[in-house]
Amino acid sequence: MDQVQKEHQRLWKRAQSSKCINDVQATIDLLLEARRTIVDDPSSASITLAKLQNPVKASFEATNNDLKEAYSGLNKYTKALDKLFKDKPLPTTEYDSLSQPVLVNRAVAMHLLREGEFSTADTFLSEVSRIHMSSEPDTTMSQAEKQATEAMPDIEAMQSGEIRNQFLLMHELLYEMTEHQNLLPAIEWARNNREALYVRGSNLEFELCQLQFVWLFHGGKENNVSVGSGRLMALEYVKREFPRFQGRYLPEIQRLMGAMAFAPNLEDSPYNSIFNNPNSWERVATSFKGEFCALLSLAAESPLYVAATAGAIALPTLLKLQTIMKEKRTEWTSQNELPVEIPLPRSYQYHSIFVCPVSKEQTTDENPPMLIPCGHVIAQQSLARISKGVKFKCPYCPSESNAKDARKLLL
Ligand SMILES: [Zn+2]
Repeated sequence: MDQVQKEHQRLWKRAQSSKCINDVQATIDLLLEARRTIVDDPSSASITLAKLQNPVKASFEATNNDLKEAYSGLNKYTKALDKLFKDKPLPTTEYDSLSQPVLVNRAVAMHLLREGEFSTADTFLSEVSRIHMSSEPDTTMSQAEKQATEAMPDIEAMQSGEIRNQFLLMHELLYEMTEHQNLLPAIEWARNNREALYVRGSNLEFELCQLQFVWLFHGGKENNVSVGSGRLMALEYVKREFPRFQGRYLPEIQRLMGAMAFAPNLEDSPYNSIFNNPNSWERVATSFKGEFCALLSLAAESPLYVAATAGAIALPTLLKLQTIMKEKRTEWTSQNELPVEIPLPRSYQYHSIFVCPVSKEQTTDENPPMLIPCGHVIAQQSLARISKGVKFKCPYCPSESNAKDARKLLL
């Protein structure tokens, strides 16, 4: 992976070169100039074109020369990628997303929008809808393909619709926050969405106001107006804005007030972590982004990014597994289960896994974990086997239960 990253960085540096763009622009200028000359005096067409030949050839060569470095960088990058992900087909399933271009395109477009790459997203969406419009509808579509076609309206809606505006707003507010240390627009947004945030148990509005307090305390000026020292401004802010938080955040407010007493020497006070935390802006920005996405019923992290990263971590293990399976002439037969453990970081684990203590099998949607009234949990099939539909004794404790009292657990 290191090698790929190194080559990626190198390629990025080389491809950044603006020289090539200038050369292409020079070629365009030459052609435009020639067109003007011919329009002005049509009789000069042949001589103008003849004169054009050498300079255009030279500028093409210059462009190609500039691109050489980018080409070689791209070559090395491709080689590094090939080396890491050797060209071996992995076992596919019925829901192989890569054969569903509409779904993949939707994921890419959503990723671009949520990352704030609006012009790239616009170009991508307009080209994607052109491709999908031109392809003939297939009458022999599979179930998965039909689902993908149903996703098409989403792509059209993304181009102009609400979701684009929402992400635009999110990035405007984030920009104000991170570039200008201006929290007010984000606070206003949180205030307007207070009820929805409250239902989610979110602390966002208070987090934002607390950071605004700390910022004022350190001498930040609201609307560029300052009436007194930072400490006074912060106190004013508390009086004006914090009464609404008293019910839910009294201990936090008390802590902020307590810090006032330590103002001359906050560094050595117990409040230092609130007032001099280098990560506090980043943390609030992350939490804002998460809550904003949550109100749109979207995950805080880009699903495409998560899937691609998890895939990059998992692929080497799966490829190794495949080599071993080939040598031993065995096959990957389990349907909804990976044959080996893929150690993903904690933040990438979204579902807990339950292994039935009776059958030692991992539970699935078809064979879910069941909670017996005594509090023990076994898989549904084990339960059916043990109870045979009548009163039975729990395999782990002396209590007797009825199979119909067991409840399905959602993981
Ligand atoms: Zn029990």
